[in-house]
Amino acid sequence: MSNEVFAQRLRTAMEKHQMKQVDLVRAAQEQGMKLGKSHVSQYVSGKTVPRTEILNFLAATLQVEPDWLMGKEMETENGGLKEAASESADPESGSPEGEDNIRIFRKSTKLDHVLYDVRGPVVEEAERMEQAGVRILKLNIGNPAPFDFHTPDEVIHDMQQQLTRCEGYSPANGLFAARKAIMQYAQLKNIPNVSVDDIYTGNGVSELINLCMSALLNDGDEILIPSPDYPLWTACATLAGGKAVHYICDEQSDWYPDMADIRKKITSRTKAIVIINPNNPTGALYPREVLQQIVDIAREHQLMIFSDEIYDRLVMDGEEHVSIASLAPDLFCVTYSGLSKSHMVAGFRIGWMILSGNKRIAADYIEGIKMLSNMRLCSNVPAQSIVQTALGGHQSVRDYIAPGGRIYEQREYIYQALTDIPGITAVKPKAAFYIFPKLDVRKFRITDDEKFVLDLLKDKKILLIHGGGFNWNQPDHFRVVYLPRLEVLKESVGKIADFLSYYHQ
Ligand code: PLP
Repeated sequence: MSNEVFAQRLRTAMEKHQMKQVDLVRAAQEQGMKLGKSHVSQYVSGKTVPRTEILNFLAATLQVEPDWLMGKEMETENGGLKEAASESADPESGSPEGEDNIRIFRKSTKLDHVLYDVRGPVVEEAERMEQAGVRILKLNIGNPAPFDFHTPDEVIHDMQQQLTRCEGYSPANGLFAARKAIMQYAQLKNIPNVSVDDIYTGNGVSELINLCMSALLNDGDEILIPSPDYPLWTACATLAGGKAVHYICDEQSDWYPDMADIRKKITSRTKAIVIINPNNPTGALYPREVLQQIVDIAREHQLMIFSDEIYDRLVMDGEEHVSIASLAPDLFCVTYSGLSKSHMVAGFRIGWMILSGNKRIAADYIEGIKMLSNMRLCSNVPAQSIVQTALGGHQSVRDYIAPGGRIYEQREYIYQALTDIPGITAVKPKAAFYIFPKLDVRKFRITDDEKFVLDLLKDKKILLIHGGGFNWNQPDHFRVVYLPRLEVLKESVGKIADFLSYYHQ
């Protein structure tokens, strides 16, 4: 039995009963069973098959036999395929009945509670539609290059020049020249107590988030993560065995972290707090006073601070980005940034982290970071070779975020146009290229935000991510990436407005 056969039969049964993936997730919820959207999507696409309990649930819900779902051929009176009525297979053992010599490979149960919907089931549905020839307007992913944002020529030129010298591994934490440039960048941002050895390059910030969570969290250790969040943080903390405890960012207060909520959620097992500043998905930028309050709480409860600052060079309206680490010389801080967004080289995979402040208290943890960093040998060397060029000299991104620049003008448009739609409100973003608008759920009778974005996709061919994809637990938000050109944004908002003129759940 192959995963494909299982997937094929699952899809057939779903079609027969006119059930969509979300219907299965909802049915599971109603029965108190844990079945994530990403799981169902993996079953449907043939990436994996479920364990016994889920298999039996799917079979019962779709009114077929588990054996049939698992690919067993079964005779009917008239010789055709039948939805079998014999004993169920035991997919846990990996040996469906009658196929004892075939082993089934399943993903680790460590992934059971990991959610990463930025590339989840709705996106898969969009891919299916595209394969069928449908044009989709994509406002779902923060990847600048497809929207005609290009890497400065100088950066490409320098990489070309250095490519032949980048064949070997670099030191595990990165090329000296790259780390030196990042160290000088840290100096400009007043991040205290940083030497070149406190800097690690990574295959994007993504790799380093994963590395830091793996090095820190024992089973059950708690870490405070914003809601809404960039979901990789929650996913990596969960995968590492930790417990992601979400603190609320308050829309009424420009999406700043709610200090009372943070305090309420600290326990004896809380090790660290994560902030994302500037923020994805809200576009918020935290002022110094807000950062100071977070530092005060971290100091009081002896927490480490992880600050994801990948958008720190995409701040508009003449505002200044302050690194929280600059306010916390006595605490241990890890600050992340990279070139994916500021230099439009998300595909090159280059990011970094800076360890700062009181490193003595984290000596053992740093040992763990070093171990994991050594184990991956090094990050992409050609991409490291452009860090010095990228961080020095003219910053072309500034032209995009100043009035008249594409990101600035697109923000002005999207904020105005979305908030002109009856039933939508939003906080105007100050940085990055995301907006996280609120839907009037009473007006549209929305109870399921994933269904909302799926319905919009099917009806208007526009792809957005629902708020739940960012660990936001109300069905009342969605994220728009406003990187596409104005014409595309105008077309998209027009369609969203039309959709919302008749939509309700
Ligand atoms: N952190 C945040 C807040 C992001 O939005 C992203 C990407 O969208 C990342 C990290 C990952 O960036 P990288 O390309 O450096 O892995």
